Parts: sequence; C-alpha cells; structure tokens
Amino acid sequence: MTVHEQPRLNVLLANPRGFCAGVERAIQIVDRALDKYGAPVYVRHEIVHNRFVVEGLEKRGAIFVEELDEVPADAVVVFSAHGVPKWVPQDAERRKQFYLDATCPLVSKVHVEAERHHRDGLHIIMIGHEGHPEVIGTMGQLPEGAITLIETADQAATVDIPDPERLAFITQTTLSVDDTAEIVDTLRKRFPRISVPRKEDICYATTNRQAAVKDIASRCDLLLVVGAHNSSNSKRLVEVAERAGCSRSLLVQRAADIDWEKIGQPGTLGVTAGASAPEVLVQEVLDAFQQRFDVQVTEVDGVSEDVIFKIPRVLRD
Ligand code: SF4
Repeated sequence: MTVHEQPRLNVLLANPRGFCAGVERAIQIVDRALDKYGAPVYVRHEIVHNRFVVEGLEKRGAIFVEELDEVPADAVVVFSAHGVPKWVPQDAERRKQFYLDATCPLVSKVHVEAERHHRDGLHIIMIGHEGHPEVIGTMGQLPEGAITLIETADQAATVDIPDPERLAFITQTTLSVDDTAEIVDTLRKRFPRISVPRKEDICYATTNRQAAVKDIASRCDLLLVVGAHNSSNSKRLVEVAERAGCSRSLLVQRAADIDWEKIGQPGTLGVTAGASAPEVLVQEVLDAFQQRFDVQVTEVDGVSEDVIFKIPRVLRD
C-alpha cells in the first residue's frame, strides 16, 4: 500500500507531556550512582513507574528490589521518586547500607507539611489512592493514626475524625485536579476551620499535563496516553481526556502494546505521555501510526516548564 492509499490521520501532540523534573532527577540519581560507585546499585521500588526506564537502568547494573532485606550490607541503595516512610532510611542505616534519596522534592514538601500539622496538634486527612507508594511514604512520616486517608467526595462527606476544630488536609501530588477540588470542597463545607495547604500539593507537572489534555480532548476522536498501568498521573490523564469531551482514551505503555483493532480509524488522535514516560516512547508510538496512516502531526502550544531539581551533593561532581 502506498502512503497515498493510507487513511488520513491528524495527530495533536499535547504540551507539556512526559518527563517532569522529579522523574528526571530520580533517573539521574541512579545513573550518577552507577557512574560513581559502580554496579550494582540497588533501587527500592521502581525508581519511576515506567518499565522502559527500569529496564534501561537494569542494563547498566541497577537491581530493583521491593524491600531492604534484599539489599546486602555495604551496598548502595536508592529510594524511589515516590518517597518512603520514615522507618526506611532508619532501617537502611541499621543494615549499614549507603542510601541516596530520590524522593521528588515536591513529595518531600508534602512530608514537611504533614509534620508541621502534626507538631501543631492537628489531625490530618490525606486525599490519595490507597496502596500507592507515595501515599504509603507520606503516611509513614507520622505515627499510625495521625493521618486518615480518603479517596472520594463520598468519603469526605462521611469520614470520622477526632476533632473537627483541629484538622488539616494534604494530598497526593498526582491526583486529578478536578476530583480533588470536589473532595476539598466537601471537606471545607463540613469542616470550615480545616487548615489548607499553603501551596497546592498537586504538583505543577500533574496540573500542566491535565490542562494540556483538556485543551485538546474535545477535538480528538481518540486520545492515547503513553504511560504505565501503575502510573497514577498517567491513569488520571485517561480520565481527564474522557471527562473533557474525548469519547475514547487509552493508556499504552509503548508502540508494541497498541491494540490496532481498538484504535480503529480515528480522524483526529490526541497523544500525550505521563510524567514518568520518556519522549522516545511517544516517538515510537508516532512511528507506529505513520506505518499505518497518512499522519499529519501538530505540536499544540502549552505552558513551558523550566523546573529543575538538583541531585544530592554527593553525586554532583
Ligand atoms: Fe515530582 Fe510531580 Fe513529577 Fe511526581 S509528577 S515526580 S511530584 S514533579
């Protein structure tokens, strides 16, 4: 089949998309640790939720584990970008492991906020997804019972807390901006004196990627999110697309995972990527479409991001 016989496809590429500053920093920490200390470098949990990234680092000598008892004494271990409960670095010290913390500074900011509320004698409601490593890490900054987790507006309407006058809330950084606004609204109506974050906990990268999807969603017949199934911010992008007027949105890890039957013959395709998905996977997906369609790509204008987070001093030279 010649190019001229292929069906025409307009592709709208959302901006910004893909890697955020926290993910770049976390990957750089593992990379630099491998340069400086040599392989193997252990990493507790997937450094960021993306198999392609993890496999690339494995090829360089990173070993991914879930718990520190899988890491030998004297080894170098990196904690993932999602953050860890307080007992994890303490446990690493006890095991005589040398650790590097790749927790995103914007997650650490929420940890600090939680500690401040606790010091001030406030009970904390955390809005987040149960079982997500970031939520486990944030709740693990404080003693058990100090934080109550809720996920929905219904839970916000019924949650039992010790004292409505002494209450604060924090959130996971990668939530849906709109869902969270509804949950916060419910909390504020029920608990008018609730202490709110000084600055939004949902991070700039999550906010910007959701806004970019909203911008193109109603113009697309289908919107693909390049990202992993365990990536919270990628899953939120799929939901945001559908709510913002795109009839279908799918999460794909990479080109090889595309189910072409499901793709059908869209006239306009939106493409974005979660904060842990590298641009090379977006380009791979575009190439796969170019094999089957006569593709016209438009890069949509969006907020430009210039956030950079420094890596730990010990790895800087
Ligand atoms: Fe940090 Fe946001 Fe990226 Fe998570 S998505 S690593 S909080 S910048």
